[in-house]
Amino acid sequence: MDAVASDFTCRFCRAPLTTTFVDLGMSPLCQTHIRPDQLHEMEPFYPLHAYVCDQCFLVQLQEFVTPGEIFTEYAYFSSYSSSWVEHARRYAEMMIERFALGRSSKVVEIASNDGYLLQYFQRAGIDVLGIDPAVNVAEAARERGVPTLAEFFDAGLATRLLAERGPADVVLGLNVLAHVADPADFVDGIRTLVAHDGVVVIEAPDVRELVARRAFDTIYHEHLAYFSVTSLRNLLRRHELEVVRVERVPVHGGSLRISAVVTGNGTRPDGSVAEALAAEERWGVGDAAAYRPLVEGAATVRDHLRALVDDVRSDGAAVAGYGAAAKGTMLLNYCDLGTDSVGFVVDRNVAKHGRFVPGTRQPVLPVEALADARPEYLLVLAWNLLQEVVDQEAEHRGRGGRFIVPVPEPRVL
Ligand SMILES: [Zn+2]
Repeated sequence: MDAVASDFTCRFCRAPLTTTFVDLGMSPLCQTHIRPDQLHEMEPFYPLHAYVCDQCFLVQLQEFVTPGEIFTEYAYFSSYSSSWVEHARRYAEMMIERFALGRSSKVVEIASNDGYLLQYFQRAGIDVLGIDPAVNVAEAARERGVPTLAEFFDAGLATRLLAERGPADVVLGLNVLAHVADPADFVDGIRTLVAHDGVVVIEAPDVRELVARRAFDTIYHEHLAYFSVTSLRNLLRRHELEVVRVERVPVHGGSLRISAVVTGNGTRPDGSVAEALAAEERWGVGDAAAYRPLVEGAATVRDHLRALVDDVRSDGAAVAGYGAAAKGTMLLNYCDLGTDSVGFVVDRNVAKHGRFVPGTRQPVLPVEALADARPEYLLVLAWNLLQEVVDQEAEHRGRGGRFIVPVPEPRVL
């Protein structure tokens, strides 16, 4: 594994970063879909080179664009995925029961998107507040009656909220920590906001699952960090938060769900914490050799997927992509699948229609476009929603259409 000289330091502990996690070449910004008037312009590509910190084990990318440039108008509305909304409903019910939440409880969610999750706490009579910097999604949340601040969460906002509303019984941060440029300030804010007997629930994609599933397409510039229990615990401990429970959840290709409390509040960690830490140590959380399957897997998937697509294209079959999310952009670019290989991409999100995939420039069309174009193959870029896509596309199946699943190994269904 390379040990390169680098002036790049850990975004958490400031140690110099010299150990490569994976180097995926140059990539455009995966969530900035191209408008028609930008089609004749150049597009910036940045190195997609992830490092692992030798000190705190945080896996991370260099920050090239500020979250302000990416997240103030965000095109991802959680409610566009029906399986995701159902997951949210069950999730809220489970949290309400586990933490015995009632009418006097306060739940704050950071990166609350369009209120898809908080709405279920609210229906149970719980006081909720969402925080999401994307003005358009915060507005959508307010339209459904979920109070939402269109701001970035940081220590300053936490201090203000504590003064205005008092401490929160539950602070939720699901799939947000990876997008945070200054995790120390962010966690400091969480510590400020949570009640002494409250709980913090953080979900983040698990770096060990990422390697095991060869999910290299979930590495893109908008994801600044990738977590292990070890690195999360290091981060939280510095801000007087103690991990008391570790769970694994099957979202985004395998995520960690960490529950943490204020240090010294009397809650004892259960056995899941020591077990997870021991498993990561056996795996080699700080050892570059543990990441080699991802490095090799990325190159193998790229070669096999391109060969497979070239093969069906040379037989005269058409291929369309399903899912214009960030990882689809990353996969199309990394595998160099341009419009002559994958003609267009469909997505259920109307905000993306009429735009183009960054880098490879496929038009993003409504799902209904499949009925007209009748491509023989659908490349499932949103492989985390594979079953939902296969179920929805009964028409595609009915006319003999097949599905190509790209990872962990390209295959045809
Ligand atoms: Zn570090």
